Amino acid sequence: MDTGLAVQECDATIDDSGNAAGSINISFSLCTSSYLSNSFQSFNFKFMQSAWKEYQEKNKERFLNEMLELLRIPSISAKSEHKNDMRKCADAVRQRLLDAGADKAEVMETAGHPVVYAEKIIDAGKPTVLVYGHYDVQPPEPLELWHSGPFEPVIKDGKIFARGSADDKGQFYMHIKAMETLVKTNSLNTNIKFLIEGEEEVGSPNLGKFVAENKDMLKADVILISDSAMLSMENPSLDIGVRGLSYIEVEVTGANRDLHSGIYGGAVSNPITILSKIIASCHDENNHVTIPGFYDDVVEATKEERELMAKAPYDEDEYMKDLGVKELWGENGFTTNERTGIRPTLEVNGIWAGYMGEGAKTVLPSKATAKISARLVPNQSSVKITEMLLEHFRKIAPPSVTVNAFEHHGGEAYITPIDSNAFKAAAKAIKESFGKEPIPVRGGGSIPICSILEKELGIKIVFMGFGLDSDNLHSPNEKFNVENYYKGIETIPYFHKFFAEMS
Ligand SMILES: [Zn+2]
Repeated sequence: MDTGLAVQECDATIDDSGNAAGSINISFSLCTSSYLSNSFQSFNFKFMQSAWKEYQEKNKERFLNEMLELLRIPSISAKSEHKNDMRKCADAVRQRLLDAGADKAEVMETAGHPVVYAEKIIDAGKPTVLVYGHYDVQPPEPLELWHSGPFEPVIKDGKIFARGSADDKGQFYMHIKAMETLVKTNSLNTNIKFLIEGEEEVGSPNLGKFVAENKDMLKADVILISDSAMLSMENPSLDIGVRGLSYIEVEVTGANRDLHSGIYGGAVSNPITILSKIIASCHDENNHVTIPGFYDDVVEATKEERELMAKAPYDEDEYMKDLGVKELWGENGFTTNERTGIRPTLEVNGIWAGYMGEGAKTVLPSKATAKISARLVPNQSSVKITEMLLEHFRKIAPPSVTVNAFEHHGGEAYITPIDSNAFKAAAKAIKESFGKEPIPVRGGGSIPICSILEKELGIKIVFMGFGLDSDNLHSPNEKFNVENYYKGIETIPYFHKFFAEMS
């Protein structure tokens, strides 16, 4: 390509005072003008990049401290005693959005915990990015397993230990700081809206209605979510989907009261034994789920997709070492990544019954209860699977007990197209800040609101998670690496830039 400067036509006169008069006609050859505009753009880009870097470097400490402050609010959506903390957290998020440059930010009511909505509109003609996140967290129990208080964030070895650090306060807060960076360096070229809800960890029971009632307000071109993990800092990845969920509770009742296990044991059925047997029967010797019809609607992954998944870096020994196990467990015929990505699973999440205090008590309990959930893959309906699970647990129990089975919550799986501008912009953003093309992976977790958001708003979702699988989400000692937090803040402005350019 000829990059020399070539003036092809020039027709001008210059008067005595040196001012140009008459008509000036200058045109450059095509390759030259694109060279000029390219070099101008790349100069511009470099200038913008260093402005972002400088701003973020200068405010680094504050960015971190503000996030830690949010982590100190015990916004546990599942527990009614934290209702005021939920409100306090929503108010804090609203204020932080305003401080970061939002035109408006509101705490909006729902039948449950409130939603925080904010927007920064620069030009109605520009593309709009809707950021979704959640300010509620999982209950921290069991407390005795935490090395430090779940709501007293501690930074150790570059990791922020606190409930909500990775899920999801630390992650949605990166977007607020990314917006601040763009606003304060005068380089925002998209409109940004924020939808930060307070009921994600209890299944978003009121968000569907909220979204349906506020479609105009939430109108956008893409939904951007950071509520998931990447493979590693060395191997950045982008989730291309999440699994669905069916969550039920099963209560098995035997006799009408707790009994003496010496007097009645052996003569009356023990609900713990019955419930254990039922649960054990849910997997066969190949670890397939035995519930009739469970796999009926699963669309098997193609050979190509499985081959692509196999390319993701994975070290089984490292994986086992990290978990402290000598052997892995799972559905025969599938790799670990497949088991946690493209296959449905059934897990017991809690089980309790009988005497659990100190010492021994010879009791034959009246009740045994379990919480059971299934992770689902695309094309499986959570409504259908929930019905199937409830039916199965009611039917399989012997007449010596009664079963009360009921639903907690559920949600559908979601897959995002990888040929959309938004996905391409996300991939380009990751490449820019990590220096590496991201690997597309299927996430094992669930964000039930995804399918509802897409259905109500008619737009696609892009997942840009900056956490790690080892962040102990929902477990004691949840953490988020400081490095990942800053990397997220560094990467997100690129997404806005590239998405605006590609749209
Ligand atoms: Zn989350």
